[in-house]
Amino acid sequence: MNEVSLEPIPLCAPHLSGNEARYLQECVETGWVSSVGRYVNLLEERVAQLVNRRAGVATTSGTAALHLALLLAHVQPGEEVLVPDLTFVAPANCVRYAGAEPVLVDCDPETMQIDVELVRNFLNQRCERRKEGCFNCDTGRRIAAVMPVHLLGHPVDIDPLLEVCNQWELPLIEDATESLGAFYRGRPVGSHGLISCYSFNGNKIVTAGGGGLLVTDQQELADKARYLSTQAKDDPLYYVHNEVGYNYRLTNIQAALAVAQLEQLSEFVAAKRRIASVYQQAFQDLEGCLKLPREQPWATSSFWLYTVTLQGAAAGQRDGLLAFLNENGVQARPLWNAIHQNRPFEKCQLVCRERSQASELVARSVSLPSSVGLTSLQQAQVCQLVKRFVCQIEG
Ligand SMILES: *Cc1c(COP(=O)(O)O)cnc(C)c1O
Repeated sequence: MNEVSLEPIPLCAPHLSGNEARYLQECVETGWVSSVGRYVNLLEERVAQLVNRRAGVATTSGTAALHLALLLAHVQPGEEVLVPDLTFVAPANCVRYAGAEPVLVDCDPETMQIDVELVRNFLNQRCERRKEGCFNCDTGRRIAAVMPVHLLGHPVDIDPLLEVCNQWELPLIEDATESLGAFYRGRPVGSHGLISCYSFNGNKIVTAGGGGLLVTDQQELADKARYLSTQAKDDPLYYVHNEVGYNYRLTNIQAALAVAQLEQLSEFVAAKRRIASVYQQAFQDLEGCLKLPREQPWATSSFWLYTVTLQGAAAGQRDGLLAFLNENGVQARPLWNAIHQNRPFEKCQLVCRERSQASELVARSVSLPSSVGLTSLQQAQVCQLVKRFVCQIEG
């Protein structure tokens, strides 16, 4: 165990190397620490501009942004929203916050992203168009929106998905929380559909400590989002509320941190892409045992979290690899359980081929340290440990 370093190598730690302290200091000195302030405005403007959107609204979390997006898309109780089965749980939870039901669409095993062909076939074969919209024939419920998630820094194949959504007149909401800084055919992830959402959680590429933001091209939607996020206040002085609102506004302190982080986004993406290419190089000879993430022809990935999938003789060794890495001071993690494997969503309709690709991938995948600040020495250590584990299996 001589390669154990004193500090464990983190999975995905924040990198606070820019103007963070300076901007925070300014908040304290000026007293602008709460939900109004120049950094909130700056963050909203800069993210919107970065991804070619007309307006942005900052929120307390990415989850809050997704919840608002569903409300703005008029998702009603008893309706349905298509979400991927393979994702962090937040989008499925948000559908339930809106009183609606998620319909879980399996992923393409090559990209891990939502399988657009499945969405198309499901709509064409199991849904019908009525005056009031698109109805799921299996459940009789109206389908109100489609919410793809750009997973792990890699974009969904969004053009064909947009085409299907347009055909069926379904609003598309991008969950871009894991993929700020990624591009689809040269267009920023988060520039597609009705609304797109980002997260500034601690392990995301840009952090505010915690926070989120939604962007849209429709100013009325942004105004409505701001209204709902401030308890739906209808009068600046008297406490008049004509709708149920939420306390979803980001503070200036959090925004200050995010603005400082955002200034470094291109360096962060470059660092993540460099980390990915080092892993790619190191593991290219282990193809029999390790399937590596591959950037699709349409994609420029931000490689937010580098995730490998065990195959061949190593297919059943996920937990062994996780334990081995963690014992040796390397923080590695499995993917999230597929949504349908979690109790609140067990009974949701699952759209897949013969068997669930998402559960298969979850059972075999491991995310490796991908922090912007990962040193080459640390990464060499991770590579060596992964190789040693895999070679032991190969015998
Ligand atoms: C991180 C994340 C979110 C939002 O997370 P918050 O912690 O609420 O900011 C939403 N969806 C996905 C897929 C995520 O990974």
